[in-house]
Amino acid sequence: MQLACERSGRGTGDVKLLLATKTVPPDRIKVAFQLGENLIGENKVQELKEKYEDLSTFPHYSHFIGHLQSGKIKEVIRYVDCIQSVDRLELAEKLQRRLEYEDKSIDVFIQVNTSNEVSKFGVNPAQAVMLAEEITAFDRLNLKGLMTIGLFSSEAEQVRKCFQLLRQIQRTMLEKGYPVEELSMGMSGDLEIAIEEGATIVRVGTAVFGQRIYPDSYYWNEGK
Ligand SMILES: *Cc1c(COP(=O)(O)O)cnc(C)c1O
Repeated sequence: MQLACERSGRGTGDVKLLLATKTVPPDRIKVAFQLGENLIGENKVQELKEKYEDLSTFPHYSHFIGHLQSGKIKEVIRYVDCIQSVDRLELAEKLQRRLEYEDKSIDVFIQVNTSNEVSKFGVNPAQAVMLAEEITAFDRLNLKGLMTIGLFSSEAEQVRKCFQLLRQIQRTMLEKGYPVEELSMGMSGDLEIAIEEGATIVRVGTAVFGQRIYPDSYYWNEGK
């Protein structure tokens, strides 16, 4: 991260590290907290719930980065500070309704499908600005940024295009007054490219915790 920041003329403090902690047991996450990390992301509500109490002894921020099913809204808002995967109006509406009921509010990012892969969630890039407009009408949702998963490819330039597209969408939204300051993009395999293209948050699992036993499809293709 530091090298990529230096290379692209950015300050190291400009990019936050979010630890993607799926499958990682609380004891190992706590080691990361002890070393000064304080931002984690989980993909499944069930897993969040299982680790929540154990991790609550350490002050930290928790983001939801997986596909969110409407039926899990009630639970997820109990456990996280931010939902990075809002990708459809129906989900935003239901979040708003539940948050009103509980008299709470939450930070959200819009997830954009910049790679055009059917296996990935996220709003179509052409519809992202419209979704931002809809979300800003919901007073319980604080729109803070955009999130994407880059193309899985060994061709760096193809991956880079995904991140450039997200940044382009961000610029359009900022011009229209939507406060999407955060760009959550880049993972273990492509975080340098993401930082070069303006990421403010990189989401890293494998490079910190080692290989997972579950394939990513277990987390990403749910319901598709
Ligand atoms: C697992 C995951 C990551 C981190 O992936 P690594 O390749 O292990 O760094 C980032 N973002 C999302 C949405 C994930 O599910």
